[in-house]
Amino acid sequence: MEVMVNKTKVSIVQGDITRQGTDAIVNAANSSLVGGGGVDGAIHRAGGPAILEECKRIIARQGRLATGKAVITTGGNLKARYVVHTVGPIWHGGSGNEAEFLRSAYYECLKLATGNKLASISFPSISTGAYGYPVDEAAEIAVGTVVSFLKEQATSLEEVVFVLFDSRTWQSYCSALQVYLNRSEA
Ligand code: ADP
Repeated sequence: MEVMVNKTKVSIVQGDITRQGTDAIVNAANSSLVGGGGVDGAIHRAGGPAILEECKRIIARQGRLATGKAVITTGGNLKARYVVHTVGPIWHGGSGNEAEFLRSAYYECLKLATGNKLASISFPSISTGAYGYPVDEAAEIAVGTVVSFLKEQATSLEEVVFVLFDSRTWQSYCSALQVYLNRSEA
């Protein structure tokens, strides 16, 4: 599924984000940036040690990465030149500002990509794996944040791709984008 938002193409695909050829791919990291399971493990395995070395230098310089923030490193051996690492919220039932933190994670990645004049970026489904965020709610925030950013901000981004690992998550993101399309036609 793909749509244009202003001058940027937004697409939703099912696949492995480590194989994406966009300028950057986003990593759903944890605040210590030392590597974990899920998409984080896959990115470090595919990208090689240069990514982790740069993550360690960042942590030594600025301390742990707060929830909702983002930093950029090399893409190492990946096709993508950069990895944008962000920390999504852990789901605690929804009363701990999880939605705000998740929105911030997407927003900070988009800002960082724009600041670095990137033309394209791929996102995984942040927080919906080990961090337990309900997929439908996360999809609405992910799609909503990207669409509002592209409508409101000047950006170098020509393409934003959501790369979802499983069909259930892919379906959920497609539905969320459809809701936005219906809304903007109304
Ligand atoms: P979090 O800790 O933020 O929840 P996870 O990595 O546990 O992050 O899960 C986030 C999402 O990334 C899940 O939907 C998971 O299925 C997905 N995922 C795992 N590996 C990959 C991959 N190689 N490419 C794209 N998505 C992936």
